[in-house]
Amino acid sequence: MIKISEFAEKTTPYSVGEQPREKLIKLNTNENPYPPARECAQAVARFDMTRLKLYPDLSLAELKKAVAEKERVKEENVFVGNGSDEVLAFAVRAFFDPESAAVVFPKITYSFYPVYCNLFDVNYMCVENERDFSVDAEKLTGGQGVIIANPNAPTSLSLPLEKIARLAEINDGKPVIVDEAYIDFATKTSSAVSLLNRYENLAVIKTFSKSYSLAGIRCGYMIAGKRLVKAMETVRDCFNSYPVDSLCQKICLAAIKAEKYHAECTEKVINTREKVIRELRKRGKTVLDSDTNFLFVKGGESDYLKLKEKGILVRWFDSDGVREYTRVTVGSDEEMDAYLAAL
Ligand code: PMP
Repeated sequence: MIKISEFAEKTTPYSVGEQPREKLIKLNTNENPYPPARECAQAVARFDMTRLKLYPDLSLAELKKAVAEKERVKEENVFVGNGSDEVLAFAVRAFFDPESAAVVFPKITYSFYPVYCNLFDVNYMCVENERDFSVDAEKLTGGQGVIIANPNAPTSLSLPLEKIARLAEINDGKPVIVDEAYIDFATKTSSAVSLLNRYENLAVIKTFSKSYSLAGIRCGYMIAGKRLVKAMETVRDCFNSYPVDSLCQKICLAAIKAEKYHAECTEKVINTREKVIRELRKRGKTVLDSDTNFLFVKGGESDYLKLKEKGILVRWFDSDGVREYTRVTVGSDEEMDAYLAAL
C-alpha cells in the first residue's frame, strides 16, 4: 500500500449537502432560488476569451474597487478569494498559531470551522449554545481569537451588532472573524463592517454565493484592517497566487453593479421565509426565527427521509444538539408550497 499522510488517512473532512442527479427540489445547501443578474450573463457574453491565455489580474483591481465602494472601505481593506470557504481557511492559517491557545467558536455553528482548525493544527474550543440555540457573546473569549457566523448556521439566529462589538472588545488584540455569509437576508442585525473603524481586530467575511446567486462561481471576500489583509495575502501567496480567475472577476463585478435586482430577490426570499414560518407555526411545528435564507425546523431524520421520498431535499445533520432538526433553504414560493405540502 502506498504511504500517504497520516492526516489524509485519518481526517474526516467537511461534508457538503447532497448534489442529486435526479430532479429533486433542492433545499439543502442554501442556494438562492433566483438566477444571477442579467448583467452577469452580459459580462460572460462580452468576455474576451483570448484573455484566458494570461493569468488573472493579480491585484484584482476592478473587483476590489467595486467591493470597496460597496462596503465603503478602502481597497487596502479588501481581500478576495475563491469562495468564502477559502477566505476562512486562509484566515485560520493567517491569524492563528498551530498548537497554541484555542480558537473559540460556538458548538452549534458552521461545521467547517473545526475542519480548518484541524487542517492547520490549530486548537479550538467549542462553547455550548444556550438552550434556545442562541450564542452568549460573553462566553466567546479566553483563546487566541474567535470565529462567529452572524447570522449563524444552521440555527438561522443572529446576534445584534452591539454583541459583535462586545466580542471585539472582550477579545481585544486578538482576531475576531465574523462570517457574514447570510447577512444580506438579516432584518434583525446588520453587518459588522460598520464597526471596523472602532475595532481593528474584526475581520468580516462575505460571499457572492447566497444573496448574489453565484454559488457556482466561487467568490468571497474579507473586509479588515490593513495588517489582517496583509496576513491573508501572505498565506494566499504561499498557496495559490491566483485563486480568483479572470471570468469570475468580471461576473462578480457585474453582479455588484446589479444592486437593485439583488435587493428585489433578497426581499422575495425574506417574504417567502416569513410566510413559511407563519405557516409552520400555524401547524404547530417548531421553527426558529430566521435572519437567513434558511429555516431551522424541528423534526430531524424522519422529516428528512419523508421529504426526500417526496422529491424534496433538505439538510439533516446527524450530530449532537441538532439531530432533532432539519435545515431548510428558503426556495421560491412554488418550492416552499411543495415543501409544506410534502410535510
Ligand atoms: N459560511 C457559512 C456560515 C456558510 O453556510 C457557507 C456556505 N456553506 C460558507 C461560509 C461558504 O460559502 P462559500 O464558500 O460558497 O462562499
